[in-house]
Amino acid sequence: MDVIPTLTCLICPNGCGLKISRENDTYQIRGNRCIKGVDFARNQLKKTGISGNIRSAKAFLHYDEEHISQILSLWDLPLNSLEENRFIQGSPERSLYRTSLLSGSQRLILEQIEPEQASKHEKTALRLDRLKKVGLPVTPFLRGKNGRVVQEAENRFWQLTPFSQGIALNRNNYWQDAWRGEGLGRFLCRLYEREQPDSREPSFNLIDFINSLVEKISLNHRDLLLPLNPILQRLEETVFPVYKDIPTVFGHGDPHPLNIIWGEGKIETIIDWEFCGTKPILYDASLVMGCVGSESPEAFDSPFNRAFYGEIKKAIPPLWLGLLPDFILAQRFAWLNEWLRHEDETMVLQEIRYMEMLL
Ligand code: SF4
Repeated sequence: MDVIPTLTCLICPNGCGLKISRENDTYQIRGNRCIKGVDFARNQLKKTGISGNIRSAKAFLHYDEEHISQILSLWDLPLNSLEENRFIQGSPERSLYRTSLLSGSQRLILEQIEPEQASKHEKTALRLDRLKKVGLPVTPFLRGKNGRVVQEAENRFWQLTPFSQGIALNRNNYWQDAWRGEGLGRFLCRLYEREQPDSREPSFNLIDFINSLVEKISLNHRDLLLPLNPILQRLEETVFPVYKDIPTVFGHGDPHPLNIIWGEGKIETIIDWEFCGTKPILYDASLVMGCVGSESPEAFDSPFNRAFYGEIKKAIPPLWLGLLPDFILAQRFAWLNEWLRHEDETMVLQEIRYMEMLL
């Protein structure tokens, strides 16, 4: 089997690293988070004179208009047209299938979700309804004829959300905008004020996550242990001993700037609530500052992050604020795991360099 150098899919801001391997006249694409990555690879390969059977290693679902019409009838809505090629912000990995569509005068996003996600999505829907009522920029799911947000048809589970267009984020310079950081910081403060964590739901344990990742790394990527050792040593002295004492909140869980639909000088709506739940109060803040900082060497100490910090520090008890830099470092293990999962060696090495810089 031949392996062709990795391509980066440029169709959407996710920028998936596409691995292409060839066996006889069949090319298999890996690393694409949606089917459009195959079209991108096909066009790139064509430019170098390569054609043949080019397909995704992972199967992606597809439904025809008749099927989608039947699903929409659960909301008592008509289907005018399917818009499978319209770019939808947010990670396509969060659902089994998703598409934009037109129904009457509304543009909507239809998603098929895992059956296990259904009850969490119903609970999240109640929170989003409450947050919308108090004026937070969120987009509640649409409720079907039976009043539920998740609709079941032939043992498949569906949800429907209004589509928000927004203005695409320019990843080369968005961190220069203080208003974005300020808006996001304010949003999170209001979220923590308004919604209480569910005391029956266990808090996500980042320490257990790091320990189990390090176990996997010591089995499959031993070469990474050397650069990771000083980072782990630092976290064992700072974050690990006090982790269970950090106050918890109901957090978004993934308030990455790409999970925000940005308008003209304001946040239109915050999307991708799949990871919401009981989180240490430093979790969302560390994710935001760490992700913004990873965009470029000057992005960590940038107007975005400074304005974000100026707001979020109002929600974090002073006792815990000093732990934020080390919590950012701890939180980066979640990203290291992501790059290892996608077998993206370039991003793994880049992540380790970034963690060393944060140390
Ligand atoms: S999510 Fe799809 S369109 Fe976006 S970069 Fe990845 S493969 Fe390309």
